[in-house]
Amino acid sequence: MLALRPNCECCDNDLPPDAPALICSFECTFCPACAAKLGGVCPNCGGNLVARPIRPAARLAAHPPSTERIFKPAGCAAAITVRSKIHECGGL
Ligand SMILES: [Zn+2]
Ligand SMILES: [Zn+2]
Repeated sequence: MLALRPNCECCDNDLPPDAPALICSFECTFCPACAAKLGGVCPNCGGNLVARPIRPAARLAAHPPSTERIFKPAGCAAAITVRSKIHECGGL
């Protein structure tokens, strides 16, 4: 079952179950702003990020979202820096 993690790995913003969020196949979870900075690519596994489905509120009581906050700003910062350097060089 999808973990529905409570925060963005890059900026630690809260991402409640009904908030827009993006995830990779390993459920690394990002807010839309960070996902855009990352170019839609997960900095942890290199996989693509897709919109996280919203779990209906009526199901959350029996299937609550994860409370384990995962925050890895270093990996995100490195990935964003690489992307901005690529951009400076003309998008190679
Ligand atoms: Zn974020
Ligand atoms: Zn990932």
